[in-house]
Amino acid sequence: MKAPPEPFATASLYNPHYPRRCGQALDQALQFTPAYHSWRSFDIGIESGVFSRLASFSALTKEDLRTHGPQGFVPHGRSIPEGLASGEIELATTSGTTGDQVENVWYQPWWNRSEAASWQLNSHACGADLGNHREAILTSPWCAGVPCENGFLTKEQRTLGRFLYLCERSDPSQWPNALMNRMVDELNCFGPQVLEANPSFLGKLSRHIITNGLRVRSPALIVLTYEFPSILHLRIIRQAFDSPLASSYGSTETGYVFMECEAGRMHQVTESCHVDFLPLSPDQGGPKRGRLLVTTFDNPWRSLVRFDTGDIVRLNSGAPCPCGRHEGLTLTSVEGRLVNLTLTPGNRLVTQGEVDRALSEVPGIVEYQVIQTEQSAYTARFVIGPNETTPPTGAVREAIQAIYGPAATITPEPVTSIAPDPPGKYRLVKSLIPIDPSLFLDDQFAPREKNTQR
Ligand SMILES: [Zn+2]
Repeated sequence: MKAPPEPFATASLYNPHYPRRCGQALDQALQFTPAYHSWRSFDIGIESGVFSRLASFSALTKEDLRTHGPQGFVPHGRSIPEGLASGEIELATTSGTTGDQVENVWYQPWWNRSEAASWQLNSHACGADLGNHREAILTSPWCAGVPCENGFLTKEQRTLGRFLYLCERSDPSQWPNALMNRMVDELNCFGPQVLEANPSFLGKLSRHIITNGLRVRSPALIVLTYEFPSILHLRIIRQAFDSPLASSYGSTETGYVFMECEAGRMHQVTESCHVDFLPLSPDQGGPKRGRLLVTTFDNPWRSLVRFDTGDIVRLNSGAPCPCGRHEGLTLTSVEGRLVNLTLTPGNRLVTQGEVDRALSEVPGIVEYQVIQTEQSAYTARFVIGPNETTPPTGAVREAIQAIYGPAATITPEPVTSIAPDPPGKYRLVKSLIPIDPSLFLDDQFAPREKNTQR
């Protein structure tokens, strides 16, 4: 049996209470939560230190969440039917593809605390006096809001307390101009302090604002979430709005995990979760590039330990962040989802972030989608801006070739629009051939297979 790895968390700085909170989260799972019953025999014991203890377990997957169901992750014998009946909790189904959906217990006070903790990591959010603010939300209505794919809803039908959902349609490539004009009018009248947006959706609205010379009132803060923000999105959003932008990283399952500070790096929300970092092997971009496993703190309705978020990130290296925050992990970037990974013909992993940085350098492009169709074949679909006349086909090919190498066959394909996958999620990069990302982890840090196989 291999020696236990020295977890990355050991090298991070935390507040004095943090290790104890990690231990409480782990003990609550092992001792009082049904889904972790089979994990107990893998516990290497408290004398090993909590970070090493955590690292000795396998990862928790969405499949595990489905296998045990929401009740399996409720600690201390609380009853979901009773919680639902009293109104203390709700059930929320995540909006993945059908085979990927998970039913989650939604406990609003815990979510609110996690969100408020994330605000502390960005000075613009701190200064905006958030908590009881007006907020506009622009994302797929199937993720948050009220869907209506035929016809339109009134503003009242899209308002929930202090939240206004700007859009009831999930495909921005089909938004009529009148709908985008309505969004601008509503931003101007409603005057939200925060606009929370899917970057693809807000990118589309921003292009409409710029192209038509519209005036829009900028909120105190724009929080980008739900999806990987492309450099192209950020660029056009900055042209349309004066607001500071902050990327927020988390999920329905985990709450808020990282928040972008005013200096542009992502800081761990150490008040509400612990993060284990699993580096990729050195020939695949490790040890600075890797995957995340999240353990949540103090949710009385959900015990989550080492949950695999399904993303690749890059750790901050070199100097500490100039903002002065130093607790927990700091990321230079989120590199994209595992399902958006591609491979070079020589089997090197390519993240969405790599493709994005390359294509954002090609002048004239406003949207793109790169699809690996075979081991060495890639189609690069792209949309050019309204003032462009000649598609930069050669430059697109060169940018993609530089990533995938001379053995790659690149097919640039100018298109007029790119639609998201249902239920409104863009996949800017994807592979049609299956990729098992677990094969690319550094063996020293790879989690054990399953906590049930002994
Ligand atoms: Zn910072």
